Amino acid sequence: MILASTTSDTAVLLETLHFAAVKHQNQRRKNKEATPYINHPIAVARLLVGEGQVTDLVTLQAAILHDTLEDTNTTATELDEHFGAAVRQVVEEVTDDKRLPKEERKRLQIEHAPHLSSRAKQIKIADKISNVQDMIASPPVGWPLERRLAYLDWSEQVIAGCRGCSPSLEALYDQIMEQGRQKLAANPT
Ligand code: ZN
Repeated sequence: MILASTTSDTAVLLETLHFAAVKHQNQRRKNKEATPYINHPIAVARLLVGEGQVTDLVTLQAAILHDTLEDTNTTATELDEHFGAAVRQVVEEVTDDKRLPKEERKRLQIEHAPHLSSRAKQIKIADKISNVQDMIASPPVGWPLERRLAYLDWSEQVIAGCRGCSPSLEALYDQIMEQGRQKLAANPT
């Protein structure tokens, strides 16, 4: 029984990964290497497993899918049909309303963070860890130092509202932020 359920979870996760890979297939990150976009959701899911010891399948699926509503043509109905309401709900929780201006969306992320489910908070933390790591090591082309630092400051305000759901992920976030600020201060290229 245990073996059967393990096999099935693995198959579900692979299907989820396939879906996200197809949806993001023509997208690249904004860094100089133009990294395939799918590397980012994979990194987020991997942080949840490796650092957060998360084993909940819905959380891992939602992590892999976390940018599909916001950044691809995926609809909530599609997520419902393929992966069920629980996964769709978590993805919706971590999706900005793209009809709003960017600054308003950023402000709302701070405001909404404390009200998110524990699954969504864990994904938020892993997402910000991944983005901060990229902002330090492989930033978007053309972003000056102040803009990169402003991203770090803003992410800290979002994460403040997510604390209490994963001590290990929160500790890693704090460590990445401290190292990142030192690195940007010492060698801001
Ligand atoms: Zn993301």
